[in-house]
Amino acid sequence: MRLSRRVGSIVESATLNVAERAGALKARGIDVATLVAGQPDFDTPDEIKAAAVEAIRQGFTKYTASSGIPELRAAIAEKFRKDNGLVVSPEDVLVSCGAKHSLFNFFAATCEEGDEVLIPAPYWVSYPEQVKAAGAVPVVVPTREEEGWKLRPEALTAALGPRTRAVVLNSPNNPTGAVYSAEELAALARALRGHDALVLSDEIYEKLIYGGARHHSIAALEPALAGRTVTVNGMSKAYAMTGWRIGYAAGPREVIEAMARLQSQTTSNPVSIAQKAALAALTRPTPDLARMVAEFDRRRLTMVERLRRIPELPLAVPQGAFYVFPRLSAYVGRRLNGSPLANVSALADALLEVGHVATVPGEPFGAPHHIRISYAVAPEVIDRGLDRLERFLASLT
Ligand code: PMP
Ligand code: GLU
Repeated sequence: MRLSRRVGSIVESATLNVAERAGALKARGIDVATLVAGQPDFDTPDEIKAAAVEAIRQGFTKYTASSGIPELRAAIAEKFRKDNGLVVSPEDVLVSCGAKHSLFNFFAATCEEGDEVLIPAPYWVSYPEQVKAAGAVPVVVPTREEEGWKLRPEALTAALGPRTRAVVLNSPNNPTGAVYSAEELAALARALRGHDALVLSDEIYEKLIYGGARHHSIAALEPALAGRTVTVNGMSKAYAMTGWRIGYAAGPREVIEAMARLQSQTTSNPVSIAQKAALAALTRPTPDLARMVAEFDRRRLTMVERLRRIPELPLAVPQGAFYVFPRLSAYVGRRLNGSPLANVSALADALLEVGHVATVPGEPFGAPHHIRISYAVAPEVIDRGLDRLERFLASLT
């Protein structure tokens, strides 16, 4: 069967694939400690659910405006003003079916065949694949662990070229947990002054931030960038609403309009009921968010402390999101029951199949020596998973 070259060039999402493999082992009755989740283990808060139930009761079950209901777009514009210092009007906001969809709309609406998109590594697995699906070329710009996994302005300048269409920034970062300071973002903004590249700022982990770190939106720091930055965010992480599929983007009207036109011919509106739930989530006090963040922070510290006790497993302390990203390369080449484990992906496979701990290898994040471990899971699963990880690594010869 002949399939499209664009889709032929993309791979399945590694995060979703590992989650499914772990689920399949569990379905066979195997007790797997799954440290994979890219989603809070907390339930969606009751008031948010109640808003959705009320929407159903009221018959709010029809198509809505394709770009999202006006009240939600207005609430998002207000959120950007209040939390991020961005001046956006509701017309400059597009509500989509998850932030993943917002990102896809962006690449599809702005990239031409052969355009380049700069992606600092480590990166979330979906960026390069979405760029390829849009016909463009992902250009990976490495960052250094010793520099906190942050893109340096010199590296950005060196990577910018005549074909660069956009630069992806993701702070707090998945998978490293790195959070850029205002100064670091301002330095990147300065490096972009002499170039007309668009900036895609994925801020979905904005609220999940620890130990005094602060979130900043690059579009607010550099007025010259505001006119060419699309800021993406969503309900999934901060409100424990992954399944509701509501993400959103704001930016220059021309770009948002192009993304909206594409959406009007593809998915139409995000789920009507989920939009009402998102509206409730954005317009109410959030004591549950503070509790969730405090709990993630406790787990983060426990996990860092425990991983540090494992020999030859260096790691940078994450400041945001809910992942740790230790370097596993000291264990590569060691043997499990006589067979050498050739790379981190082989190690992660064996850890899952034999050690019964699910993690995501760093390779699809553009970091082949590392492994991503999520702490968005119950503390007892973290304990069990880390006990097993420790035993598994010690058993290698
Ligand atoms: N960006 C990053 C960095 C993510 O980790 C995720 C997680 N899925 C998303 C975007 C997309 O989130 P969603 O589609 O659930 O809004
Ligand atoms: N973003 C999450 C993760 O990195 C959820 C899964 C996905 O969409 O990739 O695990």
